[in-house]
Order: sequence, then structure tokens, then C-alpha cells
Amino acid sequence: MIQFQNIHKTYLVKGQAITALHPCQLSIPRGQIYGLIGHSGAGKSTLLRLINRLETPSGGQLWVDGVDVTQLDAAGLRQFRQGVGMIFQHFNLLSSQTVADNIAMPLRLAGQHSAKEIEAKVAQLLRRVGLEDHAKKYPAQLSGGQKQRVGIARALSTDPKILLCDEATSALDPETTQQVLDLLLEINQELKLTLVLITHEMEVVRKVADRVAVMDKGHIVEEGPVAQVFLHP
Ligand code: ADP
Ligand code: ADP
Repeated sequence: MIQFQNIHKTYLVKGQAITALHPCQLSIPRGQIYGLIGHSGAGKSTLLRLINRLETPSGGQLWVDGVDVTQLDAAGLRQFRQGVGMIFQHFNLLSSQTVADNIAMPLRLAGQHSAKEIEAKVAQLLRRVGLEDHAKKYPAQLSGGQKQRVGIARALSTDPKILLCDEATSALDPETTQQVLDLLLEINQELKLTLVLITHEMEVVRKVADRVAVMDKGHIVEEGPVAQVFLHP
């Protein structure tokens, strides 16, 4: 479903080229939970951000559901991005906005829905992530786990087919991490979403991922079903 063909990414920093991702081949099957693991600086964020084009590739093709998204024009890209949700290590919530308004943000920006439709969608998402009693609160009034639930609800608001998770549990304690991972598993199974998740914790991959790619210095050094890859560390 998501296919990298010779995709690579080089950043220019003060005239110096830094290759964050060397040309790589990668297929992420539809409906799976796909883990990207590796040390800091391995290229995980770059690879993830190429999927929703927060980063522009330096070359290669990226196919999502049969469309080469490197060829999309601005309007096509806007449309494509509605199908790709993202959650972050530090949640990236707007502190001046309520939980409900944070969740509604992507739908309001899309400009294709009435206020009534948005209200109904937000109520449904609040129930899905177990925050129905917190709609009117502000992010500062929530625990870390609750903030990430808001992040997840916001990411799901446009009914994406893909959910990108950038160290989504790295700022959370072990118990809260488990709860958030359980919620992600539920979303994967019930909504049939494809999840791509970055982590530096092998435990996280072990718990939830179907397949994993191990990254090092901008290369994918191992790839396969989790049980197989972790048998040969
Ligand atoms: P990871 O997510 O595995 O920590 P990154 O993809 O963030 O790895 O980074 C890979 C390499 O690319 C690192 O050397 C990093 O410093 C560099 N890099 C990442 N983003 C940028 C950027 N916007 N500009 C310049 N260099 C970057
Ligand atoms: P994280 O690893 O938590 O994703 P980073 O601190 O690596 O975040 O990167 C934060 C932002 O800075 C990202 O947008 C990334 O692309 C950019 N970045 C990372 N490394 C560099 C770098 N060497 N030069 C410029 N920008 C960078």
C-alpha cells in the first residue's frame, strides 16, 4: 500500500550535504502496524515525514494506493494529506484551544463540513478515545496520556487511512504507554488503519508491530516480520 522506490533525502546545511536517507526500497502492507526502529539520527523521522510529504524527497518515487505522491500538485497534496493522520511525541496541541477545538481543527481547516457535522464527529471521537468528560478542558489540565488521546482523536478526525506515529509514547510512563498502545491496536483493528510508528524502544515494536524496519545511518539494515527480525538481532 505504501511503497518507497529509491526514495532518498539529502539536507543541505550551510552548503554541506547530509544524507538522512539513502535510496531505499520499502513496502508497508495495508492494515498493518509497521515499526521503524533505530538510534537517534538514523533517519526514522525523515522516512516518516516523507510519507505525508512534510519532507520533500530528493529523488525516487513514493506510491500510496497506486498513486505516486511525489507527482501531486498542491491541491492533490492537500487532498492526500487528509488521508494521513499524524501523532507526535510532545502531542503538538494548541494550548489556547479546548480539547474539542483541538480535535475539530483539521476538519475546520479542510473547510468541507458544517458546524453540526464537526460537532457530531468530535463527540464520536471523544467517545472513541475515552475523553467524553473532558471536551471543554484545556491541554494543560490533562495528563500526558490524555493529551496523547486528544492527539489521536485529532489525527483521526479526517478519517485517514494511514496514521503516522512519531515517538508517540516516548514522553509517557510505562503504564500510560501500554494504554496508548492498546488504543492504537484497537484503532488498527477496528478502523482498519495502516499505522507506521517510529520508536527507539524495542518493547514498543514487540508489543504492537506486525513488521519492522531497522534503520542505521540512513539505511534500512533489516526488514521483516517482527518475530523474524528480532530472532536475529
Ligand atoms: P531519527 O528520526 O532517526 O532521529 P532524523 O530523520 O531526524 O533521524 O535525522 C536523520 C539525519 O538527518 C540526522 O543527521 C539529522 O540531523 C538530519 N536532519 C534531519 N532533519 C533535518 C533538517 N530539517 N535539516 C538538516 N538535517 C536534518
Ligand atoms: P525528533 O528527533 O524528536 O523528531 P529533532 O529534534 O531531531 O526531533 O528534530 C526537530 C526538527 O528539526 C525536525 O523538523 C527536524 O527535521 C529538524 N532537524 C533535525 N536535525 C536537524 C539538523 N541537523 N539541522 C536542521 N534541522 C534539523
